[in-house]
Amino acid sequence: MTAREADVIVVGAGLAGLATALRLVAAGRSVQVLEASDAPGGRMRSDHVDGFTIDRGFQVLNTAYPELQRIGMPPGLDLRAFLRGALLRDADGPHLVADPRQAPSGAVGLLTAPLGSAADRIRLAVYLAEVVLSPIGRCRGGRDVELREALRRHGVSGDPVEHFLRPFLQGVLQERELTTSNRFAAFVLRTFALGTVGVPARGMGALPAALAARLPEGTIEYGARVDAVRPGEIDVAGGTTRSADAVVVAADPLTAARLLELQPPVMHAITTVWHAVPAPPTRRPVIALDTEGGPVANSVVMTNAAPAYSPDRRALIASSVLGAEPIPDALLRSTLARIWGVGTVGWEEIAVTRVPEALPALPGGSPLRKPVHLAEGLYVAGDHRDTPSIEGALVSGRRAADAYLMGR
Ligand SMILES: Cc1cc2nc3c(=O)[nH]c(=O)nc-3n(C[C@H](O)[C@H](O)[C@H](O)COP(=O)(O)OP(=O)(O)OC[C@H]3O[C@@H](n4cnc5c(N)ncnc54)[C@H](O)[C@@H]3O)c2cc1C
Repeated sequence: MTAREADVIVVGAGLAGLATALRLVAAGRSVQVLEASDAPGGRMRSDHVDGFTIDRGFQVLNTAYPELQRIGMPPGLDLRAFLRGALLRDADGPHLVADPRQAPSGAVGLLTAPLGSAADRIRLAVYLAEVVLSPIGRCRGGRDVELREALRRHGVSGDPVEHFLRPFLQGVLQERELTTSNRFAAFVLRTFALGTVGVPARGMGALPAALAARLPEGTIEYGARVDAVRPGEIDVAGGTTRSADAVVVAADPLTAARLLELQPPVMHAITTVWHAVPAPPTRRPVIALDTEGGPVANSVVMTNAAPAYSPDRRALIASSVLGAEPIPDALLRSTLARIWGVGTVGWEEIAVTRVPEALPALPGGSPLRKPVHLAEGLYVAGDHRDTPSIEGALVSGRRAADAYLMGR
């Protein structure tokens, strides 16, 4: 029998583990968080390379995420916004398709961008309006299908899908076939349309760092890898066993599956290549998409939104491709030259972030919420229990904490 360390031991200090711990501490419980690495954040961390801020894969915060609002956006994050829209290029040049309230010329793009016939555009507009105006609860209710099936049922096909929806969503869902849950895709589109999308001025890692700072000092123990888990008990690498009233496993999806003998989810992979460039191809803080089905999911001048990502006057561009490996440099550069309409001579590769286990797949028809209470004294949290997102990770942490607090 080992000494009881705390009311609850949480394994992992990613967003889910932090949300669990914050909820339990707020309810007056003592919590010990064991984190294998040297800092909080898990898949949401930022590194510094030659003075540049390099997130562990391009990702963004969205102020419309309900759970982020519930937790409260940490003051001092200084969110730097991207335009609500995208830059699409065809043979006629670039088309900015964006919320006209942010960029008046964004409305023109809706007419000129390669989105098909008038009838195609109307069907796309009707679909998007329905998604954006639905109450958030509707995204959770009803029968779920794959996104591609939902689009088919709305008559949305051809150019609007190939030149806008697929290029836009593949970067977010991290898959091209659009087999992801339609309810989750609708949630993504809705929050993108309604929220501010951006990055903290000094990197995505600022969010978990700020959440960790809300916990009592010493709550998180770094460099503590958990090797085995039983109800109310864990083994830490190096041979110690610790016990508590309950254990919440908030490790990444594959580690959680291994520790808890759960079915491992399929994981999507993404790779981001970061270039320092002497002059940005646009001054707008907008995400550029490939309308020709090329290998780049998206490309964005980070410093147009968040200048502090660069230590000097050079701009920093993040370009992402699906998969765990970068594509050949020549192919990457020719694709970027086409997307941005400029040459890439002088673009210096600063870093490549490969994330082989970036997002758990959420195929159409999957439940949006999976159980978090596994056994007496044993709980699980993480984006694999909810939606594969910042929102899902935070919600799962709250649900696991609440399940413990309510004794179930
Ligand atoms: C490249 C990329 C882009 C993304 N883009 C977006 C986006 O734009 N919008 C969005 O909403 N979401 C996005 N996401 C998803 C979002 O980042 C994740 O859903 C979320 O961060 C997952 O948090 P988590 O706490 O569930 O898991 P994790 O972040 O994986 O945290 C798990 C933690 O557990 C620790 N751990 C693992 N094993 C052990 C062990 N044995 N012992 C102790 N500790 C352990 C890990 O070190 C880690 O800190 C993106 C993800 C990636 C990777």
